Amino acid sequence: MASSDRSSLEFESHPSPNFDERPDGVAVDTIVIHATALASLDQVIRHFADPVSKVSSHYTIDKNGTIVCHVSEDKRAWHAGQSKMKDGRTEVNDFSVGIELVNLNDGFDPFPEFQIESLRALIKSVLIRHSIKNIVAHYECADPPGRKSDPVGFDRTWFNDLLEPYCGRS
Ligand SMILES: [Zn+2]
Repeated sequence: MASSDRSSLEFESHPSPNFDERPDGVAVDTIVIHATALASLDQVIRHFADPVSKVSSHYTIDKNGTIVCHVSEDKRAWHAGQSKMKDGRTEVNDFSVGIELVNLNDGFDPFPEFQIESLRALIKSVLIRHSIKNIVAHYECADPPGRKSDPVGFDRTWFNDLLEPYCGRS
């Protein structure tokens, strides 16, 4: 396997107006992984660019591995909605980075290798910028439980090895 340690990740920028300020003094320590349930990156870009939708994420990763940035990590993107972590904290958007994977979320649509490689590269770069303690699927932090199913097929082996040096203590 060619180990392309992409220290300089390439992003396409498609800004979303759907964000606001993170609360003062709150550190980003969580990544939330989503599936778009929309079939194409273009549809996601339009949805997040529409102020009426009131939703966004920091990043979307297309099936071919293209990474799009919609909201700066220092702002609060609107991806988790009503949410609660196992540790009891609510308002997960306050302290998380949201990453969407283009996927129909039907349990059949695959997550191609290019997409997971980009996810890994993106997670690595987020780990450099923030002290990340949790990487969770949206369904794990949606409140009430069962409110969200994405991403169906979520697999911790996508990234677990990246977390060990950071999360061994928790
Ligand atoms: Zn979601």
